[in-house]
Amino acid sequence: MTERVAVAIVGAGSTGLAAALALHAAGVDVRVYERGAKLEALGAGITLWSNALHVLRRLGVEEPIVARSNELHRGETRRVDASVLAGFDFAPLARELGAPCIALQRADLLGELARAVPAGVLKLGAELVALKDEGGDVELAFADGRRVRAAVAIGADGIRSRVRAHLGGGEPVYSGYVAYRALHDCAESLVPSGLAFETWGPSKRFGALRVDRERVYWFATLNVPRDSTDDRRRATLSAHFGSWHAPIRRLIEATPEERVLRHDVIELARPAELARGRLALAGDAAHAMTPNLGQGACVGLEDAWVLGRAIARFGATPGALRRYADARRERVERVARDSRRAGRWGQIESPLLRWLRDTSMGTLARPLLARLVRTTLARGVASLDALE
Ligand SMILES: Cc1cc2nc3c(=O)[nH]c(=O)nc-3n(C[C@H](O)[C@H](O)[C@H](O)COP(=O)(O)OP(=O)(O)OC[C@H]3O[C@@H](n4cnc5c(N)ncnc54)[C@H](O)[C@@H]3O)c2cc1C
Repeated sequence: MTERVAVAIVGAGSTGLAAALALHAAGVDVRVYERGAKLEALGAGITLWSNALHVLRRLGVEEPIVARSNELHRGETRRVDASVLAGFDFAPLARELGAPCIALQRADLLGELARAVPAGVLKLGAELVALKDEGGDVELAFADGRRVRAAVAIGADGIRSRVRAHLGGGEPVYSGYVAYRALHDCAESLVPSGLAFETWGPSKRFGALRVDRERVYWFATLNVPRDSTDDRRRATLSAHFGSWHAPIRRLIEATPEERVLRHDVIELARPAELARGRLALAGDAAHAMTPNLGQGACVGLEDAWVLGRAIARFGATPGALRRYADARRERVERVARDSRRAGRWGQIESPLLRWLRDTSMGTLARPLLARLVRTTLARGVASLDALE
């Protein structure tokens, strides 16, 4: 039997769940189809900046999510001896933009978003295998034999999106570096709660921040050739970072090997076409970006809100999706480009360029970086009202 809905969302990551909340609140008949038999948050911790918190506020889920998070007050870029290259106080930014920057476990973010989604909206174990945009409807076929007809469908199915592939969108490309990540118990005295640090060495970085009272989220990046593997992750990290400032060695050594994740950092070279006909893309499916500005999920939440408003105002129609695409294109291109540049800056190999980079952090680069963060967030907040 074929199910009929106004809006079918493919993928229940943060983007898909947020879009479902926005649409349901607007009275739209929406379902989210997720291939996993349960919701699983890949990755360890996540930072959400003021732009994302404004979306969570509008969706009515800011309070429970903030309650599970740790607010960050200061960011530091450090040298390997712990001296500070540049410090950034987040409080003035949080005041100006009316929302803080927080860190939390990914599982908590997904769990709270899913809890807010009304019963019956989220369909688990539903893997999209084919779709057709024909005859005034989108027809979606799932691996379990389920068939759905929707007035419009949204691909929020992540970096390897099947919906994007259907639209002829590009494949992700390798950035030149890998990211290691882990969550581990750690005393407040080693990583204080309001602080996020990122330490820069030759073509590698290590960072850490608390996600709650018990746990710290740490991450590291290394330039390595494409498709390389590593079955001794802690040993690799100890060799690269073990001589850096405290508590880096301790964090690496205290974390069990099986908790250390390692992924190639990949991205879409160009954001995909955000809408065509009755299909739209949002979040990583549309514009998977490098994680250097901590904005991928934040911008996906912005997409979700604007898409929700477009459909609420103009109906589940191709015209609404086109308005969404027009409102978002420039924004997502800019953040993806800035994030890529920030990554190149962080992963510099040449000793001379590194010296220039580190020297300029104390002078010219620091205010430029602070301005980049501020404008990224402020534009994000402003973009939420693009269709009002
Ligand atoms: C190392 C690293 C650190 C990061 N740190 C941050 C950060 O601090 N802050 C931040 O904002 N962003 C960060 N990001 C980016 C962030 O993780 C992503 O942008 C975000 O998770 C994307 O969410 P999404 O919902 O669009 O996609 P996803 O989270 O990928 O969700 C897609 C969902 O679709 C489902 N799916 C896929 N295919 C199908 C199918 N065929 N049928 C049905 N379901 C399907 C998947 O199972 C999944 O549940 C980071 C990324 C990396 C790699």
